[in-house]
Amino acid sequence: MFVSAGDLEKYSYCPLSWWLSKEHKKVYSEGIEFHRNVEEELKEIKEKETKTRIYEKYILFLSVSSSLVAITGIAFLYSGLEKFWTYFFIIMALLWLLNSSFFLYRINKVSSFLKPKYERLLLISSIGAIIIAFFAIIFNYPANEDIGRFAEILALIWVAIANILFYRVVYISDIIAEKKIKYMPLKGEIEYIGANREGEEIISEKYGIKGKPDYVLKIDDDYIPVEEKSADFTSPKYPHVIQITAYCMLIEDKYGKAPPYGILKYKNSEFKIPYEKRWKNRILKMRESIIEDIKRGEAHRNHYNPKKCKNCLRRDYCNERIA
Ligand code: SF4
Repeated sequence: MFVSAGDLEKYSYCPLSWWLSKEHKKVYSEGIEFHRNVEEELKEIKEKETKTRIYEKYILFLSVSSSLVAITGIAFLYSGLEKFWTYFFIIMALLWLLNSSFFLYRINKVSSFLKPKYERLLLISSIGAIIIAFFAIIFNYPANEDIGRFAEILALIWVAIANILFYRVVYISDIIAEKKIKYMPLKGEIEYIGANREGEEIISEKYGIKGKPDYVLKIDDDYIPVEEKSADFTSPKYPHVIQITAYCMLIEDKYGKAPPYGILKYKNSEFKIPYEKRWKNRILKMRESIIEDIKRGEAHRNHYNPKKCKNCLRRDYCNERIA
């Protein structure tokens, strides 16, 4: 049986409150609206980041191609090269080819950690050899002003498009930075959004729990769950610590790596909750208690704190309240 992080949160406040929440389901429109706004803003950040990544690829492609086309144009505008330069290009192309052969030879001997690095070097070296060989051929063609001018105009148009895209990327990046700062460090990436009702639930077979963190950030190599609360507290509340730790357990199982902490955000404050074994064990015990209560068909108050009852959302229909 899978117990949700939301159930764990309610149960940690008071088992009876959790039980009553199942019988008297209340819809808190304020909370739904708050999470809908979070979801929309996160989606917008994600979409804009995807757009800038696509633009950046176009910019790189257009810059490299326009440079090649421009050099080709120069080659056609002027007559064939002196023999020295032809030999120079051919020798350079051969050297780059030799370089590629070296990387190809080494690639099967290096560790898997270095392999991607060698693959990149091999690719760069091979492309370099092709480009230089291409120039050696082009510069030996007889001059042709029409082709030369056409190539120069084409290169100029591509550079102009690359510039427009570049300014667009700068503009969008500023908007992203402004919005992002509210939710995460600038280097963080949104990995998952669960703030909406339709968001995919994360299930942990290992721990027997499930849930949807508001969102998960990828910061360096870590996946960090974040829970946003519309309320304002100056210190982390116990049920919320339970909830964020449950999300850390889900992340650990999903990504195969334990997050160092989860982030709990209130209206005007933010806390990094370390992912600790003692909290994890407490959750596992709590999960067992929940399953026992479900089997027994009842749950009861487990505290003597009138303050809790005073602030309880289910006090109107609770017959065990002490305030
Ligand atoms: S009123 Fe008190 S005893 Fe009843 S559910 Fe709420 S916290 Fe528990």
